[in-house]
Amino acid sequence: MSIHINLELTDHCNIKCGMCSQSMRDDAHGSPKKFMEWDTWRHALHGLADVEDDVHLCPHWLGEPTIHPDFDKFIEYAFAINMGNRLFREFKLHTNAVVFSQARSKLLIRLANASGQAEDTFQFIHFSVDAHSPEVYAKVKGAPRGMQVRNNIENFLAIRDALDSPWPKVTLAYVVQPGNAHEAADFLAHWAPLLRNPALSYDWPSQQRDTIYFRPLNCGDQAEADRLHADTCRALGMDVPDGDRLRAAESF
Ligand code: SF4
Repeated sequence: MSIHINLELTDHCNIKCGMCSQSMRDDAHGSPKKFMEWDTWRHALHGLADVEDDVHLCPHWLGEPTIHPDFDKFIEYAFAINMGNRLFREFKLHTNAVVFSQARSKLLIRLANASGQAEDTFQFIHFSVDAHSPEVYAKVKGAPRGMQVRNNIENFLAIRDALDSPWPKVTLAYVVQPGNAHEAADFLAHWAPLLRNPALSYDWPSQQRDTIYFRPLNCGDQAEADRLHADTCRALGMDVPDGDRLRAAESF
């Protein structure tokens, strides 16, 4: 048995995606947004030793984890005390990659290859990109960070290749919506050659390999959003079934 545990480092974010309710509120959990305290992180991690099931750990729920002022220290500590996978069996990171330096990329890849743990402990980094051109990025993501994000992810991929590191796998996510559907093919053409034989998916990635994931938008007119998503994915060559909803029950 396994259990997914999210320890949210922060509910703050550094951009304002139009499709994200978190970005439109001053509070995300009914109280002012915060950054997790060191002692909270430390106690929560050590508490995982008492969990009998295999823990799949993610340091994220609503906000952007990498903007925590001590993000690197927090993650390095988690791996340092996880010898023999005694606290968590798998780890995944979700990020918008706005704050993702080469030093941070090297740190994360080093942690993924740390000895004393199962080699596939650091399963994947999920980069939420959602645009190809800088202009569309600025509109969809509410901040002019498109080229910065592209450079950061490209640098990460180049470092992973240079170090010949099999882990973590990478997911590049693209929430299909009226403002970006027209450049989904450009996004795919740009990123596919930079990943390692990537899978192409219209549903939540389930394979342990690099994936380009075109996600459906959650919104008020769900039928229309799902139609646009299905049409866009089919235009990219995916065999999308007919149906009201095209994603697995566990997708989010
Ligand atoms: S990066 Fe994530 S948390 Fe931040 S606004 Fe976008 S979807 Fe919301």
